[in-house]
Amino acid sequence: MKTEVNMTYLPVQNFIGGQWRVVPSGKTLEVISPLDGKCLSIVPLSTDSELDEAVKAATAAFPAWSRTPIKERVQVLFRYKSLLEAHSDELAALISEENGKTLVEAVAEIEKSVELTEFACSLPQLITGEWLEVSRGIDCRTERVPIGVVSSIVPFNFPAMVPNWTIPNAIALGNCMILKPSEKVPLTAGRLAQLLKEAGLPDGVFNIIHGDADIVNAICKHPGIEAVSFVGSTRVAKIVYRTATQQLKKCLALGGAKNHLLVLPDAKAEMTAQNVVASMSGCAGQRCMAASAMVAVGSVDHIVDKICEEAKKVVPGKNLGAVISREAKQRIEKYITEAEVQGAKILVYGRNVIVKGKEEGSYVGPTVIDYVDPKMAVAKEEIFGPVISIMRTKTLDEAIAIENANPYGNAASVYTQNGGLAKYVIDKASAGMIGVNVGVPVPREPFSFGGWNESKFGSGDITGKSSIEFWTKLKKTTVKWNPEAGVNWMS
Ligand code: NAD
Repeated sequence: MKTEVNMTYLPVQNFIGGQWRVVPSGKTLEVISPLDGKCLSIVPLSTDSELDEAVKAATAAFPAWSRTPIKERVQVLFRYKSLLEAHSDELAALISEENGKTLVEAVAEIEKSVELTEFACSLPQLITGEWLEVSRGIDCRTERVPIGVVSSIVPFNFPAMVPNWTIPNAIALGNCMILKPSEKVPLTAGRLAQLLKEAGLPDGVFNIIHGDADIVNAICKHPGIEAVSFVGSTRVAKIVYRTATQQLKKCLALGGAKNHLLVLPDAKAEMTAQNVVASMSGCAGQRCMAASAMVAVGSVDHIVDKICEEAKKVVPGKNLGAVISREAKQRIEKYITEAEVQGAKILVYGRNVIVKGKEEGSYVGPTVIDYVDPKMAVAKEEIFGPVISIMRTKTLDEAIAIENANPYGNAASVYTQNGGLAKYVIDKASAGMIGVNVGVPVPREPFSFGGWNESKFGSGDITGKSSIEFWTKLKKTTVKWNPEAGVNWMS
């Protein structure tokens, strides 16, 4: 354990009922910057009793917050959006420090958080209910009401954006939230809490509980929590979904991904190569929307050559950030070595990278692997590093069969200038988010984000209009004021 003196920041604390709270349990983990291996802070592993306090604080805040008209609730989010913009540089620096991504990528994460908050500000316009005189003198109306205390469990790869997938919408819709940040990147969440408080969010509406698997398990089982949203790996998404739904909670659990890019010979070579490389190496490949597998259909050697040229322009420590940890670097490099041993051809090497002056950082260079057999691990599994595995097929149907056979289903893209072939892929790909000549087909607000198959468990999506269903309950009221309506089968 490093002493506090050597840390960049004070020890991380929970945020409960609008106050910073020390966790008395004493169990902590170090927060290490992937950029240079420096110890940034220590994060506490909360226990059931801290979670109980957070649930109590959220439960106490719920009656007043849920009864606050939504147009008043979103005023807080208008101010939060402005604060995100005003603090963009500072937040981006913190994100980069704890996550390892580049500053440019971290700024983009704040820009996306702003867009997510703007969407939440528009919710009053989107959730107006319905009303109809269903028979003489009898009216029926529907309204969306908040669920209660809800939880959001998030991964390491987007310390601000993924929390902001859930925070603005859930609280705009009248819920009180407990956020469980990734123990690898707990610092940014604390700044978000400060900004929400500064924006005027009442105490207890937003709370943070830090910890690892044990506290996630406790959240899934806590009787005071009505709904659990989760974003992370498929392995943990399955655990969370099973545990939470077994406790009869509402649950939406987003998992990992293996996204395929299908490249056809008529694709625009320059644009395709730039897109493929940006998609596989952005955020060091640590995006659930990253291109991880490319299926080269027919004669596309000229595009593969350009991909290699583009990949060589991506330089670790400059325009390529670090991967989250030493373990992650080792895991990614093991995948590359294994593919090479099994006969794949490494066109661009990213192993054994050391960035001068940041020797303790965890960097992997961009890696292009060609002639990958669909049975290899690099073809099938999520690598979560700046690596693209190229498989070769003669026909588009073979390429679609490879995409369809993968158990994940987050995203898939096709590169072609032929509208008919693009439509064929849109129809046949087994993924929730499809791109045509777009390498990272993230649907922007108001469209929703969510994959299929083993990339998501539960119904609906986590952002956009679809999330309204998850964060609310539908109330149906039938009203009769007029005695002449009488009493009949519908009274
Ligand atoms: P992870 O699954 O290891 O961790 C996610 C969260 O679960 C963290 O808060 C962690 O503390 C907790 N956790 C870890 N192990 C647990 C366990 N055994 N039981 C209960 N909780 C546990 O994921 P990660 O490594 O932080 O993030 C990377 C993964 O997230 C990748 O697989 C990536 O594809 C995925 N991801 C998916 C999406 C999406 O939209 N589908 C978005 C971002 C990231």
